[in-house]
Amino acid sequence: IISKLPQVGTTIFTTMSALSAQVGAINLSQGFPDYECSPQLVELVNQAMKDGYNQYAPMAGNKALRDEISLKVQKLHKATYNPDTEITITAGGTQGIFTTISAVIQPSDEVIVFEPAYDSYAPTIKIMGGVVKSLELEPANNYRIDWNMVKKLVTNRTRLIILNSPHNPTATILHQEDIEQLSAIVRSQDILILSDEVYEHLIYDGEVHHSMARYPELKERSFIVASFGKLFHATGWKVGYCLAPAHLMTEFRKVHQYLVFSVNSPVQQAIAQYLKDEDTYLSLPAFFQQKRDYFRKGLAETKFELLPSYGSYFQSVKYGHLNQEFDTEFAMRLTREAGVACIPTSAFYTRGTDHKVLRFCFAKKQETLDDAVNRLLDFK
Ligand code: GLN
Repeated sequence: IISKLPQVGTTIFTTMSALSAQVGAINLSQGFPDYECSPQLVELVNQAMKDGYNQYAPMAGNKALRDEISLKVQKLHKATYNPDTEITITAGGTQGIFTTISAVIQPSDEVIVFEPAYDSYAPTIKIMGGVVKSLELEPANNYRIDWNMVKKLVTNRTRLIILNSPHNPTATILHQEDIEQLSAIVRSQDILILSDEVYEHLIYDGEVHHSMARYPELKERSFIVASFGKLFHATGWKVGYCLAPAHLMTEFRKVHQYLVFSVNSPVQQAIAQYLKDEDTYLSLPAFFQQKRDYFRKGLAETKFELLPSYGSYFQSVKYGHLNQEFDTEFAMRLTREAGVACIPTSAFYTRGTDHKVLRFCFAKKQETLDDAVNRLLDFK
């Protein structure tokens, strides 16, 4: 057959996690915790199964869960989303991204993507026949978005801009100034926004998460994608959600109903109960900031150069002053020789740009972080 994605192989996350397992390394590559999620949450899932939540959930998702999400977004961002028409439960963040892109992108529509970018965006755009217009950001100026460059990328075929804050893999966040510049660009244009906010509560040093939900003129054109796997340390449950104004959500659901129809029912019912206590998510910045600070302190003793980490559960380092190996080669050697797996950042650029930056996930037990740092200290 003629491949729709001739350039695509197996994702870097699967590749590095497999290599890590094969050589018995500490896996700081793919982003997931190595500690258990809340026993209370597990109990709630068991209870939901016992209570008979074992058949199809409604297509849009469990009603109690959509109600809780609506309350949460109202409380956090003073934004109103109607649970009946503007919130849909998805099988994780990646499905929300795929569904959004397939609902709005027609062949030859252009999508502006900031790179490095989560690896699903570009292939999904291409499957739909869309055109990726990427703007490469660089570690040298801390991955700041130059909005004048964005303006130059906009044409009359620009249909969508994809944003991600807190950002995977760079751990940067959007600031008020970015919001203003973005608003000025999309204002009076027929451009939609896909805002990947799966790390919404993983934001540090008291910074505010600038959700698109907070800004009415952005909200009205945005699909916001979120993930309970990231929030509640249960990436394997694959449950997340999408927010969008009703006219956009109608299109989203047209695809959603044929892609998954509906999502894991007992987990939805459990999360609906769990979300009633706002501490379950308001405690996350402090929880992860402690891990970030601990890991950074350890890494500071190694030969690597640390980049800032303002949000997400990722910490990147530069190694270009140590050697000039291509980052993928270097990451694989580090996995084999030091026994610590990471993600090479070139995997997040469609052109494979190599700034000699590696991404580590710090959503790990303290002893795992200790072990990893010790191994990196010994690495020659
Ligand atoms: N979001 C996770 C990461 O960036 C991985 C997701 C995946 O493996 N598809 O590591």
